[in-house]
Amino acid sequence: MANFIVGLTGGIGSGKTTVANLFAELGIDLVDADIVSREVVAKGTPGLQKIVEHFGDEILLADGELNRSVLREKIFNTPSEREWLNNLLHPMIRQKMLNQLQKANSPYAILVVPLLFENGLDSLVNCTLVIDISPELQTKRTMERDGVSAQQVQNIMGSQASRAEKLAKADDVIDNQGTISELTSKVVSLHNKYIKLAECT
Ligand code: ADP
Repeated sequence: MANFIVGLTGGIGSGKTTVANLFAELGIDLVDADIVSREVVAKGTPGLQKIVEHFGDEILLADGELNRSVLREKIFNTPSEREWLNNLLHPMIRQKMLNQLQKANSPYAILVVPLLFENGLDSLVNCTLVIDISPELQTKRTMERDGVSAQQVQNIMGSQASRAEKLAKADDVIDNQGTISELTSKVVSLHNKYIKLAECT
């Protein structure tokens, strides 16, 4: 188990994936909540089995994989179903993230979680790193990356903690409004800081 874990978060399009990849290039092991949350409902898992028992076979695609758009529809306007699903999946995701962090053997490890604060997962980490950009740049970069409208990006931003809330809770902040090379040097200096912090724990 890496004995020092950094929780990496930020709003949609802020640059979490870009930053996580830069840390990975420096040899740091990553655990990604988005990947883990897909793994716990993969074909053949107890998680998917429970979802099928609850919602029926219509929740499956022809190949036996989870039909995410049907599941999204089921929970969209039904808070009790959303709560049921969260109660099922959140403990599984948490446990699997911990298992993967346990296997990490870099000097420290990074847990990448879009909703780190919103879902209380900051309790799992030693310190938090928030990637910060203006809402305007966030909208522009996400529209370019995903080919979505400004309205779609703003809807997602509305479901995430505000910029001010994230900044208030952050131990470290990377301003990602500059170039990739500026970003890279910020990552390298935080990497050196985390190596030292990990040595002291
Ligand atoms: P997130 O994982 O937080 O949603 P990404 O890392 O995917 O964000 O970044 C969003 C988009 O912005 C991507 O297309 C990425 O290549 C681009 N991007 C990230 N950082 C920069 C930067 N400093 N300059 C220009 N483009 C960037």
